[in-house]
Amino acid sequence: MKQLELVMALSLMVFFGALAMANGKQTEYAIVIHGGAGSATTDPVVIAARQAVLEKALGMGIATLEAGDTSLDAVEKVIRILEDSPLFNAGRGGVLTAKGTNELDATIMNGKTRACGAVGGVTKVKNPISLARKVMIETRHVLLVAEGADVFATDLDDPMIEIVEPEYFRTEKQVERLRRIREKEQLSDREKMGTVGCVALDKYGNIAAGTSTGGLVNKKHGRLGDSPIIGAGTYADNTTCGISCTGVGEDFIRNAIAYDIHARMRYGKQKMESAVKDVLNNEKHPIVGGIIGIDHRGFITMQFNTGGMARAAADSKGLHLIEVGK
Ligand code: ASP
Repeated sequence: MKQLELVMALSLMVFFGALAMANGKQTEYAIVIHGGAGSATTDPVVIAARQAVLEKALGMGIATLEAGDTSLDAVEKVIRILEDSPLFNAGRGGVLTAKGTNELDATIMNGKTRACGAVGGVTKVKNPISLARKVMIETRHVLLVAEGADVFATDLDDPMIEIVEPEYFRTEKQVERLRRIREKEQLSDREKMGTVGCVALDKYGNIAAGTSTGGLVNKKHGRLGDSPIIGAGTYADNTTCGISCTGVGEDFIRNAIAYDIHARMRYGKQKMESAVKDVLNNEKHPIVGGIIGIDHRGFITMQFNTGGMARAAADSKGLHLIEVGK
């Protein structure tokens, strides 16, 4: 019996090894997460708390990919954890609009098929990333916004799509944050928190990318940023890379940043690392923020031109990194 198990385990290893080589992959799986670009956090209490959430999210991503589940599953599960934390600008911790309300945006994309789903300006969904995935799977559309998206969520009557009261998002911290920005007071590092995103490459060579955010604090009611716009804040294509962005969304929309990185690789034969560097350092069309990505071989990038970007990454070759401070 023991011998049989050994033979089966070896065959599986050979199978996945062959699969990886056929894909030109350098690693069996890879995952990268961002927790938003902004100024570097210096408060040790905030750093430790955010580090713990990122560790939990990364652990979930690794376990999902190691179990042989898909990159889409990994991206959704990771982002749900970050959305449930009040420490990131997504889900529970989403920043408030000028009206003092919550309008949440999220996107998920499948690099194998280019199937994607997104929601914008949702107000009662605990985990917008899961709703984005439902848009992708259960509708013929790509993007649902505002009341229509909220109604779609309620009608689904699905345990993965929990409906919550507006109070769930009105954390004391966010109310205070909005008050201070309205009064033009400087926000301290402690109060700067970020959008979340995740890109994963699974054992089958499929890349998925997702992003979830509350947007920009004090934004106009009805404003959509780059996060729910495919090709701006998120993109995935197995032949090139998966990308998730964070920063001033208007910059990323104007320059179709996530798609531009894909296009530079596809048509310009640029490597992902240098494509990301170029879009972040474009003097003619400047953008402010950060970008994470995984290319089709499993290489990971995490770059930003702000003071800091919370981030985490791991792969099957033993990479395991979490960085919150800068
Ligand atoms: N990109 C997001 C937006 O503009 C915000 C962020 O990444 O912090 O909505």
